[in-house]
Amino acid sequence: MFKEFGISEKVVDFSNDILKDLKERFEKIDEIAEYNQLKVLAAMQKHKVSEAHFHATTGYGYNDIGRDTLEEVYASVFHTEAALVRPQITCGTHALCIALSGNLRPGDKMLYISGKPYDTLEEVIGIRESKGSLAEYGVSYGQVDLLPNGEFDIEEIKKAITEDVKLVGIQRSKGYATRPTLSVAKIKEAIDAVKSVREDVIVMVDNCYGEFVETIEPSDVGADMVVGSLIKNPGGGLAPIGGYIAGTKECVENAAFRLTTPGLGKEVGASLGVISTFFQGLFLAPEVTAGALKGAIFAANIFENLGYKVVPNKTESRHDIIQAVEFGTPEGVISFCKGIQAAAPVDSYVVPEPWDMPGYDAPVIMAAGAFVSGSSIELSADGPIKPPYAVYFQGGLTWHHAKLGIMKALQQLCDDKVLTL
Ligand SMILES: *Cc1c(COP(=O)(O)O)cnc(C)c1O
Repeated sequence: MFKEFGISEKVVDFSNDILKDLKERFEKIDEIAEYNQLKVLAAMQKHKVSEAHFHATTGYGYNDIGRDTLEEVYASVFHTEAALVRPQITCGTHALCIALSGNLRPGDKMLYISGKPYDTLEEVIGIRESKGSLAEYGVSYGQVDLLPNGEFDIEEIKKAITEDVKLVGIQRSKGYATRPTLSVAKIKEAIDAVKSVREDVIVMVDNCYGEFVETIEPSDVGADMVVGSLIKNPGGGLAPIGGYIAGTKECVENAAFRLTTPGLGKEVGASLGVISTFFQGLFLAPEVTAGALKGAIFAANIFENLGYKVVPNKTESRHDIIQAVEFGTPEGVISFCKGIQAAAPVDSYVVPEPWDMPGYDAPVIMAAGAFVSGSSIELSADGPIKPPYAVYFQGGLTWHHAKLGIMKALQQLCDDKVLTL
C-alpha cells in the first residue's frame, strides 16, 4: 500500500526505525486516552444521553433537551458547574470573545499572564485597534510575559494583580509562538498565585488544542472558565462548527447573555440537527486527540533525527497537539505542505502554494484536505514563508492517517531534493 502512495522503501524503513523507539510513549498516550474515554462515557451515562437528545430543533430552540443535556455532559467532563456548547459559537475566537466580553464591564482590567495572546484575540481585546473591541468599551489590558525559560513569572503576576483586575487570561497552547506549551500542573501554580492575591479574580484559560491531552483540564485546578473550539480536539472531527465555555454558573451565564441577549441567555438557540455530531464527536475526542498526539511525536522524532530543530523536541512531554519543524528554507516548508496535502482524503490532487493572505506580513502556505472546512483536528499544516521557515503541523483524525501524512511529507522532501535519507 505504501508503494501505491508513492512512498519509497527508504522512507518506510526510516519511519519503521523511528517507530520502534516510540512504543512506550505511545502506550502512555493510550493510557491517557483510555482514562479520558471513560471520563466522557461516564458523563454521558450520568446524564442519561438518549436518542431523544439527537433530534433537531428550530426557531427559538426553547427546551432543546439535546442541547441542554450536551451542556450538562460537558460540565461533567470538565468538572464545572455549567457549560455553554453551541453551534451559534462560530469559532474559538468567538467563544473567547463572549467569555471575555460577557464577564468584563467598563472600567475593568483584564490581565494576560502567559504573554501575548493568540493573534485573533488582539483585535478582540483591542491590542490592535479594532471596531467593537473590549478597549472601545472601556476595558483595559495588561500583560505579564512568560520568563525566558517559558515558565510563569509568578512574582510579576502577583504584583500585576491590582484592584481593577477583574479577569486573568492564560493560554494553554503555544499557538503559533515558539514558547513551550503550558502543562495543567504549571497552570495550577499560576492560578494558585493569582488566587492567593485575590480569590475573586476570574481566571479564564484558552484551552484550544489542549483538551484530552492530559487526564486533567485547567478547570480541575481552579480555572473559572475553560474555552475552546469544536473544530479542534473536543469536536472529535465530527462537529461541523461550534465552540464551548465550561466554568462556574455565573461566568457561563454571563457569557450566554453576551452570545444571545441579556435576559434570554442560554434559553434560546436552536441546535438545527448538529447536536448528535457534538455528542458523537465528544465521545471520539479522546481517541482522536491521542492519534494526533502520536502523529506530532512521530514527526518530531523523524525531523529531529534528520537534524532539524523541532518544537517540542522529540522527548519533551506534550501538552497540546501542535508540532513545529524548522526547515530553514522556503523549499522545506513548501515540500512538507505538498506532502501533507497529497495524503489528504479530500482535495489530495491539488497542490498548495504560498499566497499573500490578509492579515499576514509574509506569504503563507497551507495544506488541508478536510471534511470540515478549516478543521485543524484534521491533518493540516501551514507556515509563513519567512525565517526561520518553520512549518506548523497538527491533527489527523486517526493515527494511521497522521503517520501516512508525515511519511508523504518526508517523501516529498526527498523527491524535491530538500533532504536525502
Ligand atoms: C485556534 C486557537 C484559537 C481560536 O481560533 P479560531 O480559529 O477562531 O477557532 C485561540 N487560541 C488558540 C491558542 C488557538 O489555538
